This record gives sequence, structure tokens and C-alpha cells, in this order.
Amino acid sequence: MEQNVLIELHDVAKTFQTADGTSRMVLEDVDFELAEGEIVALLGRSGSGKSTLLRILAGLIPADKGSVRYRGQEIYEPVTNVAMVFQSFALFPWLTVQQNVELGLEAQGVPPEEREKRANEVLELIGLAGFGGALPRELSGGMRQRVGIARALVTGPDVLLMDEAFSALDVLTGETLRDDILELWEEDRIPTKGILIVSHNIEEAVMMADRIIILSSDPGRIRNEVKITLPRPRDIESPEVRKLIDEIYGLMTMRAIQHAAAGVPAAAAFSYRLPDTDIVQMEGVLDWVADAPFHGRADLPKLSEETELPDEKLFPAFDALGLLGLAQVEKGDLLLTPLGFRYAQAEQSERQEIFGKQLLANVPLAAHIRRTLEAEMTGAISETAFLNLLEENLKADEAERVLKVAIEWGRYGEVYEYDYHTGRLTLPANEEE
Ligand code: ADP
Ligand code: MG
Repeated sequence: MEQNVLIELHDVAKTFQTADGTSRMVLEDVDFELAEGEIVALLGRSGSGKSTLLRILAGLIPADKGSVRYRGQEIYEPVTNVAMVFQSFALFPWLTVQQNVELGLEAQGVPPEEREKRANEVLELIGLAGFGGALPRELSGGMRQRVGIARALVTGPDVLLMDEAFSALDVLTGETLRDDILELWEEDRIPTKGILIVSHNIEEAVMMADRIIILSSDPGRIRNEVKITLPRPRDIESPEVRKLIDEIYGLMTMRAIQHAAAGVPAAAAFSYRLPDTDIVQMEGVLDWVADAPFHGRADLPKLSEETELPDEKLFPAFDALGLLGLAQVEKGDLLLTPLGFRYAQAEQSERQEIFGKQLLANVPLAAHIRRTLEAEMTGAISETAFLNLLEENLKADEAERVLKVAIEWGRYGEVYEYDYHTGRLTLPANEEE
């Protein structure tokens, strides 16, 4: 892969200050290269740092550490050969389509006549011929994003960075636009030598990319890389594409399940980042999988389609089910365990009982809270004690989030109670004696 590298990141890290004054590391140890001739898709859950990575590559924000290069040259600010398309379209509402597209050229000092000519060419290329005089608000979402793409392409960039460029559009419009871009690319009708798309849509990534990179969360690191050699255009229904989609789903849902299986070292175990899911959603997913047409085993992409839940809701639910031993991910399917089946069939009180048992067996923080309460004469402990413990390994806001999940789960499983007003945890009343 030592062909011409377009843009690259080496050992990049990025930390943001949060509103409460603490800092949060969003990216760590990131190495990345985009070479000539490649379309790469960067996948990751919401908040994993995808946009941040893209903005660093585009020279829009600096990395704290490491290097960012365009064709071997260190960059510190946006480079004209690297263009970006945003999810929000980012058009100026008071400028016409034509003016919006010409903007990038104006900044480069291109004379008006030349600007007009090049804008017209790219508007035609992207299916906007005749819309030059329109204002953005007169256009549909799909057409507006075409303007966003035209504005990126008008400078003839080497590198096109697309940040969830299709996700604000309805499915059909998004797919059409995606296919149009691929066609321009395949037919060499744009001078672009490399494309990086950021997405949380697995299908989109598999349909477009030569290589998929998966970013883990907290902090974002590159976790997996999958190469795709299938020719484009790809058939979404083909077994090869379905298999890849399954594989990527599997990779994106593996974390909690691996942790649960491997057994995390004790010190770090308390601060395991419990998935951000609510119990209703988690049980909802379990019930979906238990019922027809899945009967206990669901192809993840199909499940996502059926439930109509976005992946950023679904994945934490999978994580939680895996963590509690109610389901596991296997070859791109979510598979209920025998206990998961029992859970699905159980009445409310039995569900909570199973939940509580699994919680104590699989979530060290919950087990620790319970043991500490049992050992405590008064049977009550302030949540602050547990927060302090978590803050040894986690940032304050994350510690708070994790404890909140542990409290909600513990209450549901009836392994401890929590008084919102006093912030104290206690053993369940009916057990106390
Ligand atoms: P993604 O695109 O994968 O959803 P982002 O890169 O947008 O993720 O954000 C990653 C994390 O960094 C989020 O928690 C977000 O709140 C935080 N973040 C992003 N930009 C800033 C900023 N300018 N200041 C503080 N926090 C930020
Ligand atoms: Mg983003």
C-alpha cells in the first residue's frame, strides 16, 4: 500500500475541555492514511470522534499531538486541495446556489468569469443545471446537499472528505446521491483522487468503500480495518455484500461481549463503561429478537431495519444484553442465550429477578455496591463514595453517567435502592432485617 499517500495522520490525539472544566480525550493514538485511488469509510458510534478526526484532517482544527500531512507536507490550516462536505449542508441561505458554489473559488482569487464557468460545469455535473439562481430554501434536502457537494468539487480537490453527508436525507435520496457520487468517481469525471466518508451507516460504508475503518469510543482509536475488493457498483442484495454488512455489524457490537467473556482486571472493572441504554429499549430489542420472524436469532442489519431504531440506540442495547448474558453476537447475528429466551417469556417480576442476578454476576460495579451496602452497618451509603471510586479511572461526567446506569440497573434488578433526594444508596427495604 505504499502508493501515493494523499493525507495522513500519525499518532494523533485530541482532548476537548468540557463545560464543567474537565477535559475529555476524544482521539488517541490515531494513525491513518488515505492513498490515491481509494475510497475509505470511517465508521464509529455517535460521539466516537469521527467528525473531530475529519476536521483535523481538513486542517480545520489542530491535533494536540502527532502530525497531519497532505502529500507529505505537514499542514496547519485548511488546504485548497482538500474539500469537505458537511451533514448540515452548511450553505449560506442568502446566497444563490451559484454564489454558494462560487464561494470557494472566490476565496482562491479566481476571476469572476472563470468562477462562473467552473461553477456552471460542476452544477451540471451534479444535476443542478438550471438551479444556479435559486436560493437554498427553494430546494429540497437532496438538492441542497447537491449544492454542498458542488461547492466542494468546484475547486477540483484531490481529496474529498464527507461527514455523514447523506444522513440528513431520507433513505432514497441519500442512496441516489451516494450512487451519483460513485458514478462520477468510477467514470473519472471528477479530479478527486481519494475520498474519505465518515458515516455511522454500515450499509453505506459497505456499498462505497475499498476499506472500512472502525473507530472505538472513549477515546476514539482505530480498532478494526476491513478491506473490500468487490467491484462497484455493488448489489445490496448480493450474498457477498450481506456477508460484509454482517461482519461489520459484528465488529461494531463486539466490545462489551468480549469484555464480559474475558473478565476485566479488578481495578478497572468497576469503571467499566456501562452502555448508555435504557432498560425499556434493551427489553424491547430482546422481545423483537425472541418473536417472529427472528425466533431467537436476528440478522443485525435486518433487526435494525425492523426496529427502526438508529444504530446509536441499538448498539448500546446489544452491549447491555451481551453484558448481562442474555444475548450474544455471532457472525453478524444477535443470538439469545437460553436465559435470554427465558427472560423474554417471563412475567415482569421474574424478569427483574433474572436481571438482578445477572447484574450481580456480570457487572462488577453493581456487585461492589451491593457488597459494600451489605457490609455497612447503617445499610446506606452516599453515591459520592462510588463516584469518587469511579473518578479514579474516569472523567467526572463519565463517572456520573456510569454510576447513573448502575443505579438504574440495580433498582430494576432490586439489588439496591436509591433515594434521589438524599443521593443515598440502600439495600432494598423488603430484604432489610
Ligand atoms: P462523532 O462525529 O463521532 O459523533 P465528534 O467528533 O463530533 O463525534 O465528537 C466526539 C466527542 O467530542 C463528543 O463527545 C463531543 O461532544 C466532543 N466534542 C466535539 N467537538 C467538541 C468541541 N469543540 N468542544 C468540546 N467537545 C467537543
Ligand atoms: Mg459527527
